[in-house]
Amino acid sequence: MSIRACFLAVVACSVLACNTSSRRTPELKSADASAVHVSQPAIVWPNGARAAVSLTYDDALRSQLDHAVPALRKHGLLGTFFLIGTSPVLQASPESYRALGRAGHELGAHTMNHPCDRKLSFVKPGMSLQDYDSARMETELAENIAQLRELGQQGPLSFAYPCGSTWLGEPPTSYVPSIEKSFGAARGVTSAIVDPAHPRLFDVASVMGDLSASALIAWVERAVQSGGWLVFTFHGVEGEQMSVDADAHDALLSYLEQNKAQVWTERFGPVAEYVRAHARIEPVAPAASASAK
Ligand SMILES: [Zn+2]
Repeated sequence: MSIRACFLAVVACSVLACNTSSRRTPELKSADASAVHVSQPAIVWPNGARAAVSLTYDDALRSQLDHAVPALRKHGLLGTFFLIGTSPVLQASPESYRALGRAGHELGAHTMNHPCDRKLSFVKPGMSLQDYDSARMETELAENIAQLRELGQQGPLSFAYPCGSTWLGEPPTSYVPSIEKSFGAARGVTSAIVDPAHPRLFDVASVMGDLSASALIAWVERAVQSGGWLVFTFHGVEGEQMSVDADAHDALLSYLEQNKAQVWTERFGPVAEYVRAHARIEPVAPAASASAK
């Protein structure tokens, strides 16, 4: 390998390994150029793209229908909507979500009741992860999956861990095995660009989207530099929790549209399937169970 090729490989590895706060732009780290030698990329993205980006929207929120969906339509992009089964918006308007599916968006699971660590203030009594066991979780997952099928979602299903937590019960036990039984891939909340060689398809890293336009676009630029897969996790859009400004969201989508030759913007599930089929995935140790936030 030439010195230049080796340097580029080091830069790519540094970017892929970044794991910073979601509110800060990732920074390149220096590395010993003699320490890393990569002879070929871990993946070749479709149509010569240099990175993949997935836009995901959690919790079935009203502001997503009002602001994110029109923006996606305007820019000709598709997203993934991870639905809480008991969302009032979903309960009141399932037809809105059927329409999303018909438009090509992916509908994914996010449990029925969104259990999180009971130390979080919004968690209701009896609805914390500490109150769950595998049987209860699997019953609710089956309900959530039935909803998605009823809404028209076909093929392998995607899942997003509520609060990014992959554990339940006391003492905490990983429920990743339950997810592996029923889903094609699952999204977590570790803030990083996904290295296709180590994708952890049942706890895929993702970057919180409540950022400025420049910070959102900076993440995409880093993904292009590294050749990785960048997954954004959005909640509210111009309102509701962990909100991104509609203008910032629109600026990101505009950037993705303008740079579609370089960036493959695709729903979460199809990118996960592509990675599974095409990446040179290196074996990794089993994911540790941990609460993300
Ligand atoms: Zn959620």
